[in-house]
Amino acid sequence: MYATVSSCNDSFKSGREGLLRRGACEESLAQRLSDRANIYCPGSQEFKNSTQRWSTLEAPTFRATVEVATEGDVMEVVKYANEHELPFLAVNNAHGAITTVGQLQNGIMIWMRQLNSVKITEDGQMATFGGGVLDKAVTDALWAAGKQTVTGGCECVSVIGPGLGGGHGLLQARHGLVSDQFVSLNMVMADGSLKTIDHASDLWFAVRGAGHNFGIVTSITSKIYNVQFPNWAFRNFTFTGDKLEALYSNINEHFLKDDEQPVDLFHYSVILKNAAIDANNPIISFYILQEGVDIVEDAVVAPFLALGPVSTFSGSGDYPALPSWIGWGNNAATCQHSGLANTRFPIELQHYNITAQRSMYNLLSNTLNEIPALNRSVVLLEGYSQQGVKAFSSKESAYPFRGSNLLLAPVVRYIEEDEKLAKEGKDLGEALRDILHVGSGRVTKRTYVNYAFGTESFQEIYGDEFWRRKRLLALKKKYDPSGKFSFYAPIA
Ligand SMILES: Cc1cc2nc3c(=O)[nH]c(=O)nc-3n(C[C@H](O)[C@H](O)[C@H](O)COP(=O)(O)OP(=O)(O)OC[C@H]3O[C@@H](n4cnc5c(N)ncnc54)[C@H](O)[C@@H]3O)c2cc1C
Repeated sequence: MYATVSSCNDSFKSGREGLLRRGACEESLAQRLSDRANIYCPGSQEFKNSTQRWSTLEAPTFRATVEVATEGDVMEVVKYANEHELPFLAVNNAHGAITTVGQLQNGIMIWMRQLNSVKITEDGQMATFGGGVLDKAVTDALWAAGKQTVTGGCECVSVIGPGLGGGHGLLQARHGLVSDQFVSLNMVMADGSLKTIDHASDLWFAVRGAGHNFGIVTSITSKIYNVQFPNWAFRNFTFTGDKLEALYSNINEHFLKDDEQPVDLFHYSVILKNAAIDANNPIISFYILQEGVDIVEDAVVAPFLALGPVSTFSGSGDYPALPSWIGWGNNAATCQHSGLANTRFPIELQHYNITAQRSMYNLLSNTLNEIPALNRSVVLLEGYSQQGVKAFSSKESAYPFRGSNLLLAPVVRYIEEDEKLAKEGKDLGEALRDILHVGSGRVTKRTYVNYAFGTESFQEIYGDEFWRRKRLLALKKKYDPSGKFSFYAPIA
């Protein structure tokens, strides 16, 4: 009934014997955990693997990784950490890149990957997911039963990580955000007790948009749906930078007319260096996805074909395969922990401001030429449809930005070298975002919590409305007064 501990000298020894003999780390905790739990101590390969992160910049540091196997394990780790005055952080696939998590030093990593179950209720209306389950596991298990629900787009990201901050995904156009699907959550609170949170709890507001601040979710019960449109199609276009004005004007005119993209479309583009096509300037890779068709309709494609792309390709198939077509699959570069500082500078917009787009592009192009160490950097421009998101009242959950048409994010990437390069990277990200912000005409930068860099203000992340921030502050004071869950976009 004891957890397995691994250290530098002996990779896996199970039970009390191995634990006592080695005495490597957190021995008294091991005796409180279920037999499928593991503790990985510094020096072991497992510890090293478990603590790799999607972004290396200002990463948290840990004195042990505890791979929990049950809800009870999570409760015990939190109690143990409190008894020893240790900070702790729940981690799924470590894609959380906000620099505030770097304030956690020498803590306990609570690795959630074994909590990956998917169970559909008998009536087929809901499913319960483990708190560490990843998107692909949910999509595949539901699909096998003719069901689906809203998850993030990438196969490698968890459901709960995005969901606690809202959670964008392709099915949001029909059903709302990931968090709009929640029916209830089991959550381990700051003192290690367990709470079931649903619409009757005052925390219900907070867990849907600011949930990282209140506890560790061990399971989620979520709405699920019969698959309505099994098939999707996509069309990709590669454009050189001289087509930028025409491309984004076309999107404004054909997709965002009347401030609302058609419900069956998703568009996104990436502005990136590709020396094989243009040695000096970034190119634009533009995708259109359409639901319920085997080929993206001619009328949708025609205005973009008319611009004269360098190349174009297309494909189609069932919804679960979609991430692998567009670079969001488990094997895609974007999913890997590749030793890069991966920093995002998000901003939400209603339309593309063409002048701002050009200035942003030129700055990116010039800077990547001047500082080659930054030339893996890209700008990500995502256009999710919003009908399902707008169908929920903005007053009922902490997520503050219902109705933003576009989620843009300069993604500044580099191999960490020194403070100078880190500053140049941050300056580039901030400057690109500032151009987009000025072009938006908005006073406050709207910055999606799950993409935030980490230096944004409380207002920029949790919204302009004073009542929303006041309510969050009051709930934080009530449920987590000592800030045990204040490492990811803290409410303060
Ligand atoms: C490749 C990639 C693709 C992405 N795609 C999308 C997308 O399609 N839609 C979208 O909205 N966002 C997306 N994001 C952003 C994503 O929402 C955030 O990066 C999010 O933090 C990732 O969650 P994670 O669980 O995978 O990462 P982790 O680093 O494991 O977790 C992030 C944070 O969530 C908290 N946390 C984790 N597990 C729990 C738990 N069980 N209970 C309570 N708190 C917990 C912790 O504070 C942790 O620091 C993407 C990010 C990347 C890198």
